[in-house]
Amino acid sequence: MNQTDILSMTLPELKTLLEEMGEKPYRASQIYDWLHKKQAASWDEITTLSKALRGKLAEQTCLHAPEIRSLQVSAIDGTRKYLFRMHDGNYVESVWMSYHHGNSVCISSQVGCRMGCTFCASTIGGLTRNLTAGEMLSQIYAITRDTGERVSNVVVMGTGEPLDNYDSLVRFLRMLSDENGLNISERNITVSTCGLVPGILRLKDEHLMINLALSLHAPNDELRRRIMPIARKYSLSEIIPALKTYYKANSRRLTFEYSLIRDTNDTDECAAQIASLLRGMNCLVNLIPVNPVTETGYRETTPAGVQAFKKKLEKHGIHVTIRRELGRDIDGACGQLRKRCTETD
Ligand code: SAH
Repeated sequence: MNQTDILSMTLPELKTLLEEMGEKPYRASQIYDWLHKKQAASWDEITTLSKALRGKLAEQTCLHAPEIRSLQVSAIDGTRKYLFRMHDGNYVESVWMSYHHGNSVCISSQVGCRMGCTFCASTIGGLTRNLTAGEMLSQIYAITRDTGERVSNVVVMGTGEPLDNYDSLVRFLRMLSDENGLNISERNITVSTCGLVPGILRLKDEHLMINLALSLHAPNDELRRRIMPIARKYSLSEIIPALKTYYKANSRRLTFEYSLIRDTNDTDECAAQIASLLRGMNCLVNLIPVNPVTETGYRETTPAGVQAFKKKLEKHGIHVTIRRELGRDIDGACGQLRKRCTETD
């Protein structure tokens, strides 16, 4: 049985498939529109296609909509955390957030993660598998169907390291911004990485106008290696120049994510080191008090400590925001997403 994942196919690929099936090429646009604009979840919904063609497509391809297995809605801010069951029984989580500028969805790029950051829940249990481009899209589609509201921003900041699933990520980004699909502006898409240098350099050559965020979390390699194992492979002296070339290629302001861990990376010395590391770069530092994850034992910097750290960076001329933490009461915040592999069917 051919298992072509139809949601991962681009429009030109779909045209070729339909041609091979002896169908008229316009059918491909029609199907693409149903799948990516109208976000049909099953062949039955695609009523403008003959039953015969739907049958043929169902035989040759697979169309899987993730199933919502649980939905938690934050009583504080309306953030919605979805637990999806994928067709093979794996689970992924995605988060929907409403801001005044529009709705944003945070998607997962892998089932689990193998980067091993010591403060992050998503990495517990390691990597199970990569998600396909279609599976990344389908998280957004399922949420749109559920909320009935348009998504305007997408962040690839859920479970997984997006650059560790490079080909599917780029396919996903192109399809997400395709005018024949959801047509989300590249400028409204952000990919966050823990710093895989070859991936950053490859991404620069894709000439996508997306925003890149680096999970920095420590301003020197010694500390970074302690909290992020990937830092043993790529040092800041490689990562920062790679980001600078990325900036040169697409002029998108870089974001540095910095989760403040009390008495670990929130010292005056760290602030000074961040300032010298980022000197001269057009960037934004996003501070976020580390979110508690039962297994980690890290404590967050106090609100006063966060403000003081922000001030220190600003003194050095660095743009700083303190991230508004959405969905904290439902474990929807950064680093709190995890796969639920204990659920039985
Ligand atoms: N692998 C990518 C994508 C994950 S994004 C990356 O590392 O960027 C999730 C963001 O939340 C990253 O910046 C990550 O470092 C951060 N994060 C993880 N655990 C956290 C926690 N417990 N508290 C706050 N931020 C956390």
